[in-house]
Amino acid sequence: MCLERTTIEKLIKSNVREVKDFPKAGISFKDITPLLLDPVVSKKILEALIEFAESLELDAIAGIDSRGFLFGPSLARALNIPFVLIRKKGKLPADTVSVEYDLEYGSACLEVHQDSIRVGSRVLIHDDLLATGGTAIASAQLVQQLGGEIAGFAFIIDLSFLEGSRKLAKFGQTFSLAEYQD
Ligand code: AMP
Repeated sequence: MCLERTTIEKLIKSNVREVKDFPKAGISFKDITPLLLDPVVSKKILEALIEFAESLELDAIAGIDSRGFLFGPSLARALNIPFVLIRKKGKLPADTVSVEYDLEYGSACLEVHQDSIRVGSRVLIHDDLLATGGTAIASAQLVQQLGGEIAGFAFIIDLSFLEGSRKLAKFGQTFSLAEYQD
């Protein structure tokens, strides 16, 4: 049985480490590595993600490099569906499609293997954290380039004051386990 939203949100916030001015001045970095140090906490997070993902009819989970690879494969395994790696430029060895995008800090390029998503499959995009939404939108565009449909987005943390979920709304619904309002 999953924890209530407020309980899991408190659990996450009490375990996430906030690092001021990382990786540059003005950014309050939400470090999720302490969540992984505690198997009870990480199990509860995974269960909550599974409960949400089970409410959608999914054909695949696409995790974003690199913190989308922490819970994403376990989530896909629990649902018995494929896990697709969306990676930073130059990491995937076979034929890829790519998209350039802007981050809260800097800019980057994401790639996915051309043969990793079947046309018409319903894909949930997963990452640790939603900030401005640029990374998730680029990932949605990659999935769509390959003919996949966006079933939704699942994050552990939403920096809701940046209003990323508003930008994602045209692609699909956004789910998160903890919201930071400032
Ligand atoms: P964005 O494209 O602006 O939504 O940024 C989301 C991506 O950048 C995710 O992959 C996050 O892991 C990372 N990120 C952005 N801002 C932060 C932050 N304040 N703390 C931790 N990770 C962040």
